[in-house]
Amino acid sequence: MSIEANLTLIREQIAEACRHANRPEREVALMAVSKVHPVEALLEAYAAGQRLFGENRVQEFQEKAASLGTLSDFEMHLIGPLQSNKTTRAAELFYAVDTVDSLKIAQRLNTAAQALNKKLPILIEVKLSHEESKHGVAPDDLTALIAALQPLDSLIPSGLMTVPPWSEEAETARPYFQQLRRLRDEQQQLCPTLTQLSMGMSNDFAVAIEEGSTCVRVGTAIFGKRPRPIE
Ligand SMILES: *Cc1c(COP(=O)(O)O)cnc(C)c1O
Repeated sequence: MSIEANLTLIREQIAEACRHANRPEREVALMAVSKVHPVEALLEAYAAGQRLFGENRVQEFQEKAASLGTLSDFEMHLIGPLQSNKTTRAAELFYAVDTVDSLKIAQRLNTAAQALNKKLPILIEVKLSHEESKHGVAPDDLTALIAALQPLDSLIPSGLMTVPPWSEEAETARPYFQQLRRLRDEQQQLCPTLTQLSMGMSNDFAVAIEEGSTCVRVGTAIFGKRPRPIE
């Protein structure tokens, strides 16, 4: 199927999940995750009306951005781990950084955004499983991190993000989605701008929507299998 046909299908599935969860469709954004795919794939999705995208690596998007020319009416989010030596680049290139998991990274992004005279929306990535490979702040450290973000004027802490352990079975992810939602509800009392919940991928976005997701990050179901592994 074409990227356009895939997008149409996913949007229908999102609409269906929203109906099922009794939520208005406009509460759930579809992010197209174009990592590892060539820039042509991104452009095809753009031509089909897609405007919200996610890429995993600063370097990879920097290379693609060069081919995007004057195209600017789209939002590209960084959804992969960010090293502190890439924060300046990230603040320049991306509309938002969805994987902030330390005060050090937040401070560096804030300094970079300030120098660019821009406000950078961020999500805090939370690590809910004990897998070695996963990034994110531990739930117990979330309150302290969010409190420490308050003075960072050039950042807009907008919500939480998580990547649950991978499973064939979408239901396996449900408890993680529920936990992220509880954390968001708690933290929103302290930081009212924390409204977003970025959770759900190709195989489990319907479950994530039932549990309150406001942004599903879909790669494979739009662009097909990735030609090579992520990292
Ligand atoms: C790759 C990736 C996705 C998309 O995963 P699919 O299973 O291909 O939909 C979503 N979020 C993050 C953080 C990713 O790295």
